[in-house]
Amino acid sequence: MSEDRIAYVNGDFVLEKDAVISIRDRGFLQGYSVFDTTRTFGHKIFKLSEHLDRFYQSLKYARLIPGMSKDQMAEITMELLNKNLPLISDDDDYWVTQRVSRGITTSDGEVPTIILETVPLPFKSRANYYKNGMPVVVPSVRRTPPEALSPRAKIQNYANLVQAEFEVTSVDPNAWPILLDMNGNLCEGPGSNFFIVKDGKVITPKEQYVLAGISRSTTLELAAELGYETLETDIDLYDVYTADEAFVTSTSFCICPVFSVNGSVMGDGEVPAPITKRLLNAYSGLVGIDIEQQYLSRL
Ligand code: PLP
Repeated sequence: MSEDRIAYVNGDFVLEKDAVISIRDRGFLQGYSVFDTTRTFGHKIFKLSEHLDRFYQSLKYARLIPGMSKDQMAEITMELLNKNLPLISDDDDYWVTQRVSRGITTSDGEVPTIILETVPLPFKSRANYYKNGMPVVVPSVRRTPPEALSPRAKIQNYANLVQAEFEVTSVDPNAWPILLDMNGNLCEGPGSNFFIVKDGKVITPKEQYVLAGISRSTTLELAAELGYETLETDIDLYDVYTADEAFVTSTSFCICPVFSVNGSVMGDGEVPAPITKRLLNAYSGLVGIDIEQQYLSRL
Protein backbone atom coordinates (compact mmCIF):
# COMPACT_ATOMS: atom_id res chain seq x y z
CA MET A 1 0.00 0.00 0.00
CA SER A 2 2.91 2.38 0.68
CA GLU A 3 3.37 2.45 -3.13
CA ASP A 4 0.19 4.53 -3.30
CA ARG A 5 0.90 6.84 -0.37
CA ILE A 6 0.86 10.54 -1.17
CA ALA A 7 3.06 13.33 0.20
CA TYR A 8 2.81 17.10 -0.13
CA VAL A 9 6.01 18.63 -1.52
CA ASN A 10 6.35 22.36 -2.18
CA GLY A 11 2.80 22.95 -3.33
CA ASP A 12 2.00 19.60 -4.97
CA PHE A 13 0.49 16.32 -3.86
CA VAL A 14 2.69 13.59 -5.34
CA LEU A 15 3.13 9.87 -4.91
CA GLU A 16 5.63 9.49 -2.07
CA LYS A 17 7.87 7.32 -4.28
CA ASP A 18 8.03 10.11 -6.88
CA ALA A 19 8.77 12.94 -4.41
CA VAL A 20 12.04 14.82 -5.07
CA ILE A 21 13.98 17.60 -3.40
CA SER A 22 17.16 19.35 -4.47
CA ILE A 23 20.58 17.92 -3.58
CA ARG A 24 21.37 21.54 -2.59
CA ASP A 25 18.63 21.61 0.06
CA ARG A 26 20.11 22.96 3.31
CA GLY A 27 17.95 20.53 5.24
CA PHE A 28 20.13 17.81 3.73
CA LEU A 29 23.43 19.73 3.52
CA GLN A 30 23.31 21.19 7.03
CA GLY A 31 20.52 19.36 8.85
CA TYR A 32 18.80 22.73 8.99
CA SER A 33 15.10 22.06 9.23
CA VAL A 34 12.33 21.74 11.78
CA PHE A 35 9.35 19.43 12.00
CA ASP A 36 6.37 18.39 14.03
CA THR A 37 4.45 15.14 14.21
CA THR A 38 1.04 14.25 15.52
CA ARG A 39 -0.89 11.01 15.03
CA THR A 40 -4.37 9.71 14.45
CA PHE A 41 -6.45 7.67 16.89
CA GLY A 42 -9.10 5.63 15.09
CA HIS A 43 -8.23 7.75 11.99
CA LYS A 44 -9.01 11.03 13.85
CA ILE A 45 -6.13 13.50 14.13
CA PHE A 46 -4.96 14.37 17.68
CA LYS A 47 -4.32 17.94 18.92
CA LEU A 48 -3.31 19.25 15.47
CA SER A 49 -3.60 22.85 16.59
CA GLU A 50 -1.29 22.29 19.63
CA HIS A 51 1.25 20.57 17.36
CA LEU A 52 1.10 23.40 14.81
CA ASP A 53 1.52 26.00 17.59
CA ARG A 54 4.70 24.18 18.65
CA PHE A 55 5.78 23.83 15.00
CA TYR A 56 5.49 27.58 14.38
CA GLN A 57 7.46 28.25 17.58
CA SER A 58 10.21 25.90 16.36
CA LEU A 59 10.17 27.73 13.00
CA LYS A 60 10.46 31.09 14.75
CA TYR A 61 13.36 29.84 16.90
CA ALA A 62 15.14 28.50 13.79
CA ARG A 63 14.44 31.75 11.89
CA LEU A 64 12.63 29.83 9.18
CA ILE A 65 9.76 31.48 7.31
CA PRO A 66 7.53 28.84 5.70
CA GLY A 67 5.50 31.35 3.64
CA MET A 68 2.33 29.58 4.74
CA SER A 69 -0.06 30.43 7.59
CA LYS A 70 -0.87 28.00 10.38
CA ASP A 71 -4.43 27.70 9.04
CA GLN A 72 -3.15 26.83 5.55
CA MET A 73 -0.77 24.28 7.07
CA ALA A 74 -3.69 22.72 8.97
CA GLU A 75 -5.84 22.63 5.84
CA ILE A 76 -3.17 20.93 3.72
CA THR A 77 -2.43 18.49 6.56
CA MET A 78 -6.07 17.40 6.64
CA GLU A 79 -6.28 17.18 2.85
CA LEU A 80 -3.19 14.96 2.78
CA LEU A 81 -4.46 12.76 5.62
CA ASN A 82 -7.81 12.28 3.90
CA LYS A 83 -6.02 11.17 0.73
CA ASN A 84 -3.97 8.59 2.65
CA LEU A 85 -6.50 7.23 5.17
CA PRO A 86 -8.15 4.83 2.66
CA LEU A 87 -4.73 3.09 2.33
CA ILE A 88 -4.69 1.72 5.91
CA SER A 89 -6.99 -0.70 7.70
CA ASP A 90 -9.49 0.42 10.36
CA ASP A 91 -7.22 -0.67 13.22
CA ASP A 92 -4.11 1.08 11.88
CA ASP A 93 -3.25 4.73 12.41
CA TYR A 94 -0.82 7.29 10.98
CA TRP A 95 1.97 9.54 12.16
CA VAL A 96 1.23 12.88 10.45
CA THR A 97 4.26 15.15 9.94
CA GLN A 98 5.05 18.66 8.67
CA ARG A 99 8.66 19.54 7.79
CA VAL A 100 10.19 22.83 6.70
CA SER A 101 13.85 23.07 5.75
CA ARG A 102 16.01 26.09 4.99
CA GLY A 103 15.68 24.86 1.40
CA ILE A 104 17.75 26.22 -1.46
CA THR A 105 19.42 29.58 -1.98
CA THR A 106 18.58 31.13 -5.35
CA SER A 107 19.43 34.52 -6.88
CA ASP A 108 16.09 35.68 -5.43
CA GLY A 109 16.99 34.50 -1.91
CA GLU A 110 16.13 31.50 0.22
CA VAL A 111 13.30 29.20 -0.83
CA PRO A 112 12.21 26.88 2.01
CA THR A 113 11.24 23.29 1.30
CA ILE A 114 7.88 22.23 2.72
CA ILE A 115 7.04 18.55 3.05
CA LEU A 116 3.96 17.02 4.67
CA GLU A 117 3.77 13.26 4.96
CA THR A 118 2.11 10.36 6.74
CA VAL A 119 3.46 6.97 7.77
CA PRO A 120 1.69 4.08 9.54
CA LEU A 121 2.52 3.75 13.25
CA PRO A 122 4.88 0.84 14.12
CA PHE A 123 2.48 -1.01 16.46
CA LYS A 124 3.96 -4.46 15.85
CA SER A 125 7.62 -3.64 16.36
CA ARG A 126 6.89 -1.79 19.63
CA ALA A 127 4.14 -4.04 21.05
CA ASN A 128 6.61 -5.89 23.24
CA TYR A 129 7.23 -2.74 25.30
CA TYR A 130 3.59 -2.79 26.46
CA LYS A 131 3.82 -6.43 27.47
CA ASN A 132 7.21 -6.43 29.21
CA GLY A 133 7.94 -2.75 29.77
CA MET A 134 10.84 -0.84 28.25
CA PRO A 135 14.39 -1.58 29.32
CA VAL A 136 15.73 1.97 29.48
CA VAL A 137 19.49 2.43 29.27
CA VAL A 138 21.28 5.72 29.90
CA PRO A 139 24.00 6.26 27.26
CA SER A 140 27.26 8.14 27.77
CA VAL A 141 26.18 10.63 25.07
CA ARG A 142 24.62 13.72 26.71
CA ARG A 143 21.60 15.57 25.28
CA THR A 144 22.45 18.71 23.31
CA PRO A 145 22.36 21.50 25.92
CA PRO A 146 20.24 24.65 25.50
CA GLU A 147 23.52 26.63 25.41
CA ALA A 148 24.28 24.92 22.04
CA LEU A 149 20.84 24.42 20.47
CA SER A 150 17.60 24.53 22.42
CA PRO A 151 16.03 21.07 22.83
CA ARG A 152 12.72 22.95 23.20
CA ALA A 153 12.64 23.47 19.42
CA LYS A 154 11.82 20.39 17.36
CA ILE A 155 14.90 20.52 15.15
CA GLN A 156 15.12 17.83 12.49
CA ASN A 157 18.76 17.01 13.23
CA TYR A 158 18.58 13.89 15.43
CA ALA A 159 22.30 13.03 15.25
CA ASN A 160 22.70 13.49 19.01
CA LEU A 161 19.74 11.19 19.77
CA VAL A 162 20.66 8.63 17.10
CA GLN A 163 24.24 8.38 18.46
CA ALA A 164 22.70 7.63 21.86
CA GLU A 165 20.44 5.01 20.29
CA PHE A 166 23.38 3.28 18.56
CA GLU A 167 25.23 3.15 21.85
CA VAL A 168 22.45 1.52 23.88
CA THR A 169 21.10 -0.81 21.19
CA SER A 170 24.58 -2.18 20.52
CA VAL A 171 24.52 -3.41 24.14
CA ASP A 172 20.83 -4.46 24.17
CA PRO A 173 18.86 -4.35 20.89
CA ASN A 174 15.62 -3.75 22.87
CA ALA A 175 16.97 -0.90 24.99
CA TRP A 176 15.44 2.56 24.80
CA PRO A 177 17.88 5.43 25.43
CA ILE A 178 17.09 8.21 27.87
CA LEU A 179 19.91 10.74 27.87
CA LEU A 180 21.33 12.80 30.71
CA ASP A 181 21.54 16.58 30.41
CA MET A 182 24.92 18.26 30.93
CA ASN A 183 24.21 18.42 34.71
CA GLY A 184 23.74 14.66 35.00
CA ASN A 185 19.94 14.74 35.27
CA LEU A 186 17.74 12.50 33.13
CA CYS A 187 16.15 14.43 30.29
CA GLU A 188 14.71 12.72 27.19
CA GLY A 189 15.20 10.11 24.49
CA PRO A 190 14.60 9.93 20.74
CA GLY A 191 11.11 11.35 20.28
CA SER A 192 10.19 10.73 23.90
CA ASN A 193 9.88 12.38 27.31
CA PHE A 194 10.58 10.61 30.60
CA PHE A 195 8.59 10.40 33.86
CA ILE A 196 9.00 8.77 37.25
CA VAL A 197 6.36 8.19 39.92
CA LYS A 198 7.53 8.43 43.51
CA ASP A 199 5.35 8.47 46.64
CA GLY A 200 2.29 9.12 44.46
CA LYS A 201 3.91 12.15 42.75
CA VAL A 202 4.16 12.22 38.94
CA ILE A 203 7.53 13.80 38.10
CA THR A 204 9.18 14.83 34.81
CA PRO A 205 12.25 16.94 33.89
CA LYS A 206 11.77 20.67 33.41
CA GLU A 207 11.06 22.05 29.98
CA GLN A 208 14.35 23.96 29.65
CA TYR A 209 16.26 20.76 28.86
CA VAL A 210 13.64 18.86 26.84
CA LEU A 211 11.09 19.24 24.11
CA ALA A 212 7.73 20.16 25.64
CA GLY A 213 6.03 17.00 24.38
CA ILE A 214 2.32 17.28 23.67
CA SER A 215 1.93 13.80 25.21
CA ARG A 216 3.98 15.04 28.19
CA SER A 217 1.56 17.94 28.78
CA THR A 218 -1.47 15.70 28.13
CA THR A 219 -0.12 13.28 30.77
CA LEU A 220 0.52 16.07 33.28
CA GLU A 221 -3.06 17.30 32.77
CA LEU A 222 -4.52 13.79 33.17
CA ALA A 223 -2.41 13.18 36.29
CA ALA A 224 -3.70 16.41 37.85
CA GLU A 225 -7.29 15.48 36.93
CA LEU A 226 -6.80 12.11 38.64
CA GLY A 227 -5.66 13.95 41.77
CA TYR A 228 -1.90 13.21 41.61
CA GLU A 229 0.60 15.89 42.52
CA THR A 230 2.73 16.72 39.47
CA LEU A 231 6.24 18.12 39.48
CA GLU A 232 8.60 19.40 36.75
CA THR A 233 12.05 19.21 38.28
CA ASP A 234 15.55 17.71 38.03
CA ILE A 235 15.63 13.91 38.23
CA ASP A 236 18.99 12.23 38.83
CA LEU A 237 19.81 8.52 38.71
CA TYR A 238 19.29 8.14 42.48
CA ASP A 239 15.74 9.47 42.04
CA VAL A 240 15.15 6.97 39.23
CA TYR A 241 16.59 3.90 40.96
CA THR A 242 14.50 4.60 44.08
CA ALA A 243 11.27 5.57 42.24
CA ASP A 244 8.17 3.35 42.31
CA GLU A 245 7.39 3.58 38.59
CA ALA A 246 8.71 5.08 35.38
CA PHE A 247 7.26 5.62 31.94
CA VAL A 248 7.97 7.33 28.66
CA THR A 249 5.56 9.60 26.77
CA SER A 250 5.46 10.36 23.05
CA THR A 251 3.00 10.88 20.23
CA SER A 252 3.26 7.24 19.16
CA PHE A 253 3.58 5.61 22.60
CA CYS A 254 1.26 8.01 24.45
CA ILE A 255 2.41 6.40 27.73
CA CYS A 256 4.73 3.40 27.67
CA PRO A 257 5.72 1.56 30.88
CA VAL A 258 9.42 1.32 31.77
CA PHE A 259 10.52 -2.02 33.27
CA SER A 260 14.06 -1.10 34.25
CA VAL A 261 16.67 1.63 34.03
CA ASN A 262 20.26 0.43 33.54
CA GLY A 263 19.08 -3.01 34.67
CA SER A 264 17.63 -1.70 37.94
CA VAL A 265 13.99 -2.86 38.03
CA MET A 266 11.37 -0.17 38.70
CA GLY A 267 9.39 -0.83 41.92
CA ASP A 268 8.31 -4.47 42.13
CA GLY A 269 8.55 -4.99 38.35
CA GLU A 270 4.81 -4.88 37.63
CA VAL A 271 4.01 -3.87 34.02
CA PRO A 272 2.25 -1.55 33.82
CA ALA A 273 2.65 -0.35 37.42
CA PRO A 274 -0.57 0.92 39.09
CA ILE A 275 -0.32 4.70 38.53
CA THR A 276 1.11 4.23 35.02
CA LYS A 277 -1.90 1.98 34.30
CA ARG A 278 -4.39 4.59 35.60
CA LEU A 279 -2.77 7.27 33.45
CA LEU A 280 -2.76 4.97 30.40
CA ASN A 281 -6.47 4.23 30.94
CA ALA A 282 -7.22 7.94 31.26
CA TYR A 283 -5.24 8.63 28.04
CA SER A 284 -7.19 5.87 26.27
CA GLY A 285 -10.44 7.44 27.50
CA LEU A 286 -9.37 10.83 26.16
CA VAL A 287 -8.50 9.57 22.67
CA GLY A 288 -11.26 6.94 22.41
CA ILE A 289 -8.88 4.03 21.67
CA ASP A 290 -7.51 1.37 24.02
CA ILE A 291 -3.85 2.36 23.52
CA GLU A 292 -2.35 -0.72 25.23
CA GLN A 293 -4.64 -3.04 23.28
CA GLN A 294 -3.82 -1.35 19.97
CA TYR A 295 -0.18 -2.38 20.55
CA LEU A 296 -0.77 -5.72 22.30
CA SER A 297 -3.15 -6.97 19.59
CA ARG A 298 -0.15 -7.15 17.20
CA LEU A 299 1.80 -9.66 19.30
N1 PLP B 1 11.48 14.67 22.92
C1 PLP B 1 11.92 14.76 21.66
C2 PLP B 1 13.39 15.02 21.41
C3 PLP B 1 11.04 14.60 20.57
O1 PLP B 1 11.49 14.72 19.30
C4 PLP B 1 9.68 14.30 20.85
C5 PLP B 1 8.72 14.08 19.75
O2 PLP B 1 9.04 13.55 18.71
C6 PLP B 1 9.26 14.18 22.18
C7 PLP B 1 10.19 14.40 23.19
C8 PLP B 1 7.84 13.85 22.52
O3 PLP B 1 6.96 14.85 22.08
P1 PLP B 1 5.46 14.52 21.71
O4 PLP B 1 4.81 13.97 22.94
O5 PLP B 1 4.87 15.83 21.30
O6 PLP B 1 5.50 13.52 20.61
